[in-house]
Amino acid sequence: MSAATASAPALTAARQALKRYYGYDNFRPMQGDIIESILSGQDTVVLMPTGGGKSVCFQIPAVVSEGVCVVVSPLIALMKDQVEALKANGIVAAYINSSVSQSESTDITRAALSGHLKLLYVSPEKLLGEGFLQFLKRLNVSMFAIDEAHCISSWGHDFRPEYTQLGALRQHFPSTPIIALTATADRLTQRDIKTQLNLHEPRVFLSSFDRPNINLVVRPGQDRLGQILDFIGRHPNDAGIIYCLSRKTCETVAQKLQQKGIKAGHYHAGMTPNQRGAVQEAFLQDDLQVIVATIAFGMGIDKSNVRWVMHYNLPKNIEGYYQEIGRAGRDGGPATALLFYSFADVMSMRDMVTKDVPPRQAQLNQAKLERMQQFAEAASCRRRILLHYFSEDLGHDCNNCDICRNPPITFDGTLLAQKALSASVRTQQRVAINLLIDILRGMRNQAVLQHGYDQLKTYGAGHDLPYLDWYSYVHQMLNDGLFYIAYEEGYALKITERGQQVLKGQLPVSLKKFQPAEKAEKGTRASKKAAAEAAAASAGSPEARLFERLRQLRKQIADEQGVPPYVVFTDTTLQEMAREQPTSRVAMLSVSGVGMKKFETYGEVFIEAILQHGTPRAVPTEYEADEPNVPPFNDDFAPAPRAATKAADRDPSEDVTFQLHRQGLTPEQIAEQRNLVVGTVRSHLEKAYAKGLDLRLQDFLSDYDLAEIATARKQLGGTPALRDLFDHLREKYDYFQLRLAGVYEQRRGR
Ligand code: ADP
Ligand code: ZN
Repeated sequence: MSAATASAPALTAARQALKRYYGYDNFRPMQGDIIESILSGQDTVVLMPTGGGKSVCFQIPAVVSEGVCVVVSPLIALMKDQVEALKANGIVAAYINSSVSQSESTDITRAALSGHLKLLYVSPEKLLGEGFLQFLKRLNVSMFAIDEAHCISSWGHDFRPEYTQLGALRQHFPSTPIIALTATADRLTQRDIKTQLNLHEPRVFLSSFDRPNINLVVRPGQDRLGQILDFIGRHPNDAGIIYCLSRKTCETVAQKLQQKGIKAGHYHAGMTPNQRGAVQEAFLQDDLQVIVATIAFGMGIDKSNVRWVMHYNLPKNIEGYYQEIGRAGRDGGPATALLFYSFADVMSMRDMVTKDVPPRQAQLNQAKLERMQQFAEAASCRRRILLHYFSEDLGHDCNNCDICRNPPITFDGTLLAQKALSASVRTQQRVAINLLIDILRGMRNQAVLQHGYDQLKTYGAGHDLPYLDWYSYVHQMLNDGLFYIAYEEGYALKITERGQQVLKGQLPVSLKKFQPAEKAEKGTRASKKAAAEAAAASAGSPEARLFERLRQLRKQIADEQGVPPYVVFTDTTLQEMAREQPTSRVAMLSVSGVGMKKFETYGEVFIEAILQHGTPRAVPTEYEADEPNVPPFNDDFAPAPRAATKAADRDPSEDVTFQLHRQGLTPEQIAEQRNLVVGTVRSHLEKAYAKGLDLRLQDFLSDYDLAEIATARKQLGGTPALRDLFDHLREKYDYFQLRLAGVYEQRRGR
């Protein structure tokens, strides 16, 4: 193995690039080591979960190295997304695939030859297509990055035959390092990646597959729609995906949501590529809040602000489930994965995965389904179970799954079990779960009456328990091995040896108390109301309102620029902005996710929005001790003057601004000189003016302007909100001018 290590300056450069281009202060645990490995020229394999931050692992080395990094990626949509995100960060990147026209492609190759490109994304077909490798030889290729590298393995679920040809890279570029990245961690895939890419003694980085920010929840599959509506009602602005098994379900669920006024769309393989593209695009742009989709949706979706993923039906294995829920919370912010579970789903899934496949495959599929089922029925920390499946031990309970949050309460369920077993015996063990529960609860429906089950001794023996409780308990009995299901007999419940022992009173049974949804989440009905009120209150908190405002701004900018909103800023970045309310350049740049380029492109507008929002944080940072308050003017943006809360009415920073103004500098020049944003300078001037200092008002407003604004104010009557004034004057004057005019009128005593 090569003993080379990346030089210390190279690592420093990498760290600086992370801050400069991405606005992040630190590498995540493994990123630094991976980057060091690749910068030292070593072949590197990276196994990291979705959202773990793989892109940075090759993008940063690409940025700090000479030459161009060639990225092989299987999905056109993903390439486009990544290149857009790179550009938004100020990194020169391009992609070539079948969607790129000949002339565009020529431009790109020219840019590559001139040495301007830092990253070039290509599809495997293009890469191995005629002449492309020869072309690459004319470039200075710093490294190859093979994204979604598991596609090389025929064992995997995303096998792509083109990927197997990538071994050729090593022959053509014997000394160019290769970094292979994937979110699939199993051994076979790992081995295939190493051998098929002809990697030379690669360093392998296997990161934890835990996604601690995803809250794992499993709910009984009863009244799914009601539960979904309830959830969305409590998360009205959060984007999410609902996975369904069938196309039909996708459509009906989406329709039901639409009827409730939710912006939902459906997505499945039965739609035309155009239809699918449009739905996907609308989701990426935040124009659709919810996508109801088959598992065809999601591959190659980079949307970082998916806040929740639901499984309307049970997934067929844990691999699939984990991959799908991994699409939530990629930005690291809190996210929810909600799985609906019912036995009926297990049944139909069981049929699906065993039908028309060779017996060995059927066996394997069924075993995997059983693991999925065990997860759904777990009574201990779900995350531990999941990670265990991927051969990882968390070492402690997670505190972010439904079981950890509401540890099940166990009780002696022997009597309940005996009632159920006995009822089953009296039907000659002929009934399936639902009918058994109906009998126990004394229901008078057709199925019951038709067979005379209302005459049984156990009829109504469990009338005191609601359906859902029984549903849960019978499932628990199944899991406990008191019953089994005779699939071939209409899913009739059959009593096992163990069940017989319970029936005879030879064996006690312990059950977990069933907790209905709202209890599980927020206690009683009364506290449900309280929770709703709290949610409403927090939605109305200044921070939440600012977040909403910033989200709108982001959406507006994204639409103007034709990029998805999360490419502008991620949710977590906006949240930090809403919390910290940065109003200076330095403060804005210290927000995680605000790099130089993004600051240059969007910084001013966002600062302006924060200033207009009008409640800068009470605690100024060192640099911001001079930060402005919105001037004392009676409108809905401006709070009461902060001057009153200050010991002295004078603010040194404001004074400096004012002096520069008196010397004839424009706000822009002052901002430049003082390394402040223009909004801050204006705010200084407004405050100075409101305190009675003399401003060169004519720099900003003519007499005619002042008169026009005063007239408009009169027309609106009372003390109109600035926004109304702004609209009334058809946006002719900006807020700064309107505020100054307001102070002018105040000073003249109106
Ligand atoms: P993956 O490709 O592994 O699914 P991404 O590369 O898309 O993950 O990264 C997921 C999210 O995490 C992105 O929003 C990315 O910008 C962010 N991220 C990556 N590295 C860091 C870091 N060091 N600090 C903060 N955020 C990061
Ligand atoms: Zn847990």
